[in-house]
Amino acid sequence: MKEKINLLDKDFSQMRNLMKQLGLPAFRAQQLFNWIYSSKISSFASMDNLPQSMIALLEEKTCFDPLKIISAQRSKDGTRKFLFELEDKKLIESVYLPYKGVRTSVCLSTQAGCAMGCSFCATAKQPLKRNLSCAEIVNQLLTIEKKVSRRISNIVLMGMGEPLANYSNVLKAVSIMNHKDGLDVAMRRITVSTCGLVKKIYKLAEEKLQLTLAVSLNAATDDLRDTLMPVNKKYPLNELMKACRHYAASTGRRVSFEYVMIKGVNDSRDQAIALASILKGTLSHVNLIRLNPVPSIKMQPAATGAIDMFKAILEMRTIPVSIRQERGKDIDAACGQLSGRKTLNLKRPPDSHSHKI
Ligand code: SAH
Repeated sequence: MKEKINLLDKDFSQMRNLMKQLGLPAFRAQQLFNWIYSSKISSFASMDNLPQSMIALLEEKTCFDPLKIISAQRSKDGTRKFLFELEDKKLIESVYLPYKGVRTSVCLSTQAGCAMGCSFCATAKQPLKRNLSCAEIVNQLLTIEKKVSRRISNIVLMGMGEPLANYSNVLKAVSIMNHKDGLDVAMRRITVSTCGLVKKIYKLAEEKLQLTLAVSLNAATDDLRDTLMPVNKKYPLNELMKACRHYAASTGRRVSFEYVMIKGVNDSRDQAIALASILKGTLSHVNLIRLNPVPSIKMQPAATGAIDMFKAILEMRTIPVSIRQERGKDIDAACGQLSGRKTLNLKRPPDSHSHKI
């Protein structure tokens, strides 16, 4: 039997083309987008402004099924982590982060596994299995939105994997998430986080999108960054910073720099001074993230005093900086803790709870 076409793999213009291929008028694409992403219905039968013949055709040839949720865990701070099983049984995780007020954020995965090998990250403990399809990226968001019954206002592509290593699927997913008849999330509220794939940063700059680019820096000198992030050997800091300045200049958007604070490794005064110096004159914002513990990784989180000192040094040098609030640590849902393994559910501390769905 021929596989069904997944509608979640189609951006708006591809959806119009698909309608034509199926012998349907192109304007039906907008109705489909509205039903799937705005009304968030789950079956073709509920699309009550479409003719029966079209519904029968779509049912026969296409699908838009939700992702299969294997488990969902809820942190005491309200953060929820979802473990999804894909059709080929690969496992990925996504995180839902509600905030006070109307802001709600999701952190999505872009690959199953990761090839980047950062020494402090849980995802890096497993090899890259494959890129996620556009449908699988969009579907994490759609499935979570349906599950939590809240509209998501912010998206960070900061889960498992390296988004810029899956460039075309990620950008197509972004266009669907941003489309006004799609999920309608403002470009500025979508963040793509990279370990520093320089060529792709230039390519992204050419798209002239208002996306937020986050770059995981984690060290301000090549010697140190080489030891933490193998990508630095290919794209050293001077090349990376040049690309970031180019991105900021061509999009007018400030670049967000992530800096995971590891005790005795990168939390020194010297690194703070070096960081201020490489960021000088760049439209930027630094996010300091205390290292989250990962089993089998010996590194320790930096002390609060060291983080405060680091922040003060940057501030003295007029570099905008904030300390990222820790969320979902008790369910291994915080930055760098996503591993996409079922076994994680067994290692929960007693103050969190999870439920099978
Ligand atoms: N590959 C992309 C996105 C995934 S990592 C990237 O490198 O940006 C998302 C963020 O989590 C990065 O900023 C990374 O530096 C951070 N991170 C990884 N491991 C971490 C850990 N153990 N504790 C805190 N943050 C971590």
